[in-house]
Amino acid sequence: MSGDLQALSERQLYALRTRLAAGVHDPQLTLRGALHQDMRQCSKERCRCKEGELHGPYTYLSVYGEGRSRTLYVPQAVIEIASAHVQVTRQGEALMLEISQVNLELLRRRALR
Ligand SMILES: [Zn+2]
Repeated sequence: MSGDLQALSERQLYALRTRLAAGVHDPQLTLRGALHQDMRQCSKERCRCKEGELHGPYTYLSVYGEGRSRTLYVPQAVIEIASAHVQVTRQGEALMLEISQVNLELLRRRALR
């Protein structure tokens, strides 16, 4: 990545930065985490899940932050919207990482603005 950037002119770097920034998601949609599905046992004493027939799959969002991780249950009704938020956030943050690489290259050339 940074090797490619070194080959670009300053004008190209500014244009690339603008193009990358245009693809960054609406910050209001930011939802960091990873969705995953899991099968669960319930708390009933006599249930088919005790014989290995687990309930689910249920969807969970794992959130990492402040040195710990927690897992939230995601209700069926909001799986689609939560999934969309997580996806645009991942894409947006990948773009911001690329923008930072461009800015580092501009800084290296003392052309950061
Ligand atoms: Zn059960």
